[in-house]
Amino acid sequence: MIDNKFDLGFFPTPLHALKNVSKKYPGYQIYMKRDDTTGLASGGNKTRKLEYLIQEALDAGCDTIITAGAQQSNHCRQTAAACSKAGLKCHLLLGGTAPKVYEGNLLLSSILGAAIHFTGANRKGEDIEALKSKLQQEGAKCFVIPYGGSNFTGALGFVHAVKELKAQLTAQNLEIDYIFFASSSGGMQAGLTLGKELFSLDATLMPINIDKDGIQGGSLEEVVFKIVQEGVEKLGLSEAFSLSDISLYRDYDKKGYGKVTLDEIKAIKELATSEGILVDPVYTGRAFYGMLDFLNEKKIPSNSNVLFWHTGGLPAIFKYADKLQ
Ligand SMILES: *Cc1c(COP(=O)(O)O)cnc(C)c1O
Repeated sequence: MIDNKFDLGFFPTPLHALKNVSKKYPGYQIYMKRDDTTGLASGGNKTRKLEYLIQEALDAGCDTIITAGAQQSNHCRQTAAACSKAGLKCHLLLGGTAPKVYEGNLLLSSILGAAIHFTGANRKGEDIEALKSKLQQEGAKCFVIPYGGSNFTGALGFVHAVKELKAQLTAQNLEIDYIFFASSSGGMQAGLTLGKELFSLDATLMPINIDKDGIQGGSLEEVVFKIVQEGVEKLGLSEAFSLSDISLYRDYDKKGYGKVTLDEIKAIKELATSEGILVDPVYTGRAFYGMLDFLNEKKIPSNSNVLFWHTGGLPAIFKYADKLQ
C-alpha cells in the first residue's frame, strides 16, 4: 500500500453520532465524520489529498506549487497552508477579478502567503500551463496540483481515510449503511470507492453533486471512473469497475456552483441550531440538505445508519453573510 506522505493534519478525525438531528428523522441514526477538523488552517477534505500531493512534489525536487480554483476555494486555501508548512512557494490561479476587500478563503490564502493570480472566467486550471512556463523560465521547479487536488495521488488520501473509518467503526461497534458527502472534483469519491474495495467497507456511497457545470476531462462520473481505474492498477485490486458503478446524485445542483438557496440555508441553520456544528453554503450545506431530503422522503430504507462526511468549508460562510444573517 502506497503510504509515502507529508503530515499536514491531525488524524483520525472524530466520528460521532448526531443525536439531536437523528431525533427529527425517525428510523434513521445519523453520524458525522469530522474532516472539518483536520487542523490545517481551518481544516477540510483537501488536507488528506495534500499529504500525498505535497510529498510527491517534494520527492520530485520541486520548490513551487501551482493550483487553481474559485476565489472561495477551500482547496486553494489548504494548499497555501500546506506549502507554508512544507517550505514551498504557492501560486494560486483564482477565477474572477481582484475584489477590493479579500474575504473568506481568499483572505486566508493571502494571509498564508500564496501568490494570487486572478483568471477571469477560468476557475478550473485552464491557465496553469501558461503560468508554469513563465515561472520555469524564471528558474522555479514547478509542481502542478490539478483542480481540487483530484488525481490518483490526491485520491490516496481518501483510500487511507476508509481504513481510518473502518478502525473507528470497529472500535465503536458500529455499522454504516450509507455515506453522504459533497462531490465536486471527484478525488474524494474516487478514493472512497477504491478504499471501500481495498478495506471491505460495506456501505453505499451517496455522493451529492455540487457543480452542475462539471470539470475538464468529461462528466464527473467519467473523471471519478478514470481515477478509480488508475487506482485499480496501481493498488493491485482484483475488482473490475465499470462507469455505471460510479453513482452521483444531481438533484441538488440546479442553481449552479456557489449559488445559495433556501435549501442550503435551511440545512446550515438546522444543523447549527440542533448540534452546534457549522456547514458551509457551497459544499457541505448543499450535501447536508441532500441527505436530509433523502431522509425526509424516505428514499433510503428505514432503520439505516447514515454517515455524513463533513468535508469542511467554513471560511466561505463569511462571504455569504448577506444570505445567512
Ligand atoms: C473540495 C471540496 C469538496 C469536494 O471534494 P472533491 O474531492 O473535490 O470532490 C467537498 N466539500 C468541500 C468543503 C470541499 O472544499
